[in-house]
Amino acid sequence: MLNIGCHLSSSKGYMNMFKETEYVGGNTFQFFTRNPRGGQAKAIDPKDVLDFCNAAKEKGFAKILAHAPYTLNPCAEKENVREFTKMTMADDLERLEFTPGNLYNFHPGSHVGQGIEKGIDMIASMLNSILKPDMHTTVLLETMAGKGSEVGSKFEEIKAIIDRVELSDKLGVCLDTCHVHDAGYDIVNDLDGVLTEFDKIIGLDRLKAIHLNDSKNPFESHKDRHEKIGEGSLGETTFSRIINHDKLRNLPFFLETPNEIDGYKHEIKLLKGLYNE
Ligand code: FE
Ligand code: FE
Ligand code: ZN
Repeated sequence: MLNIGCHLSSSKGYMNMFKETEYVGGNTFQFFTRNPRGGQAKAIDPKDVLDFCNAAKEKGFAKILAHAPYTLNPCAEKENVREFTKMTMADDLERLEFTPGNLYNFHPGSHVGQGIEKGIDMIASMLNSILKPDMHTTVLLETMAGKGSEVGSKFEEIKAIIDRVELSDKLGVCLDTCHVHDAGYDIVNDLDGVLTEFDKIIGLDRLKAIHLNDSKNPFESHKDRHEKIGEGSLGETTFSRIINHDKLRNLPFFLETPNEIDGYKHEIKLLKGLYNE
């Protein structure tokens, strides 16, 4: 079965996201843990979370993916920005214990001219201070497009971060198809080659989720602008190969395409039609 969902607003709680997921025909979803620009998180409603956990179990949902606000930066130059990032992520991880066994994705960060090495060190040290042995969430580093001074557009950078984290059994990777293509990994013409490289450098056992996005920009453009499935430089055939690939087909897939809810419903139907059961 294809495990698929789309990015949803968390403002009305978990049960609302569950119902929207049923509407679009998915069995998982992604959401921002709080306003994507940061700020205060909505209080957890214990009944809403419990109802969701029961409903998800009954319907055989795949793991859900919480996404950290994209304005956080673990390798900012300013210490107060790094501190805010750390507090926010630690708080997110605490709240995610209400839905144990799921995934939490974040953008490794932008080193803003301090250099990749320093960036990698700061990201690893932030992770070392928030990961706890008793937590039940897997934290995912997202592969980035390499816009500006983004860290994590090369598999080697992701690997270097993981290597410096003590509790690295808590870590995984989320591969974003738009980002890796923009970064210069040719998943259109050589998906096998890219996955072999991922396996050699990071290890495919670390790959826990896929963001399925087409790209508005050409190969290696380092831009990061998502397009609807089949309407960008990746094309429908590439997505068919990705969701059916032996090494990927059982992972959860998340759409972050420029769509309203009915657009997502349409894309999920399209992808289910491309999936070989
Ligand atoms: Fe992201
Ligand atoms: Fe993404
Ligand atoms: Zn993106």
